[in-house]
Amino acid sequence: MKLTVLSNEVEVVENTASGWDTGSCGQFTEEDLKVRIKKGINKQVKNLTILHEMQHAADFLLSLGLSEKQVQQIALFWFSFIRENPDFIKDIQDDT
Ligand SMILES: [Zn+2]
Repeated sequence: MKLTVLSNEVEVVENTASGWDTGSCGQFTEEDLKVRIKKGINKQVKNLTILHEMQHAADFLLSLGLSEKQVQQIALFWFSFIRENPDFIKDIQDDT
C-alpha cells in the first residue's frame, strides 16, 4: 500500500516478527516515511494498526500536532465508519 501526500510517498510494509523490537503491532518512521506492520497478526488488528500508523504519518506530514490518544481515536473512528459502510470505499474508487 502507498499514499502520496504533498509529494511525499508513504509506504506500508509488513515486517517479520524476528526483526520486531517494539511492543506494538505497528510503527511509523519519519526518516523513511514507512509504516511497518508486524507480520502474522490478526487481520482486523492489522487493519486498525494500518489506520493508526497512517494517522501518525498524516500527523507528521501535515504538522497536525496530534496526541497519541487523538491518533488512536481518529483511527478507531474511521475503522468503524469503513466497517459499517463497506460500499463507501467502492464508491470512492468508482469514477462513473
Ligand atoms: Zn501510535
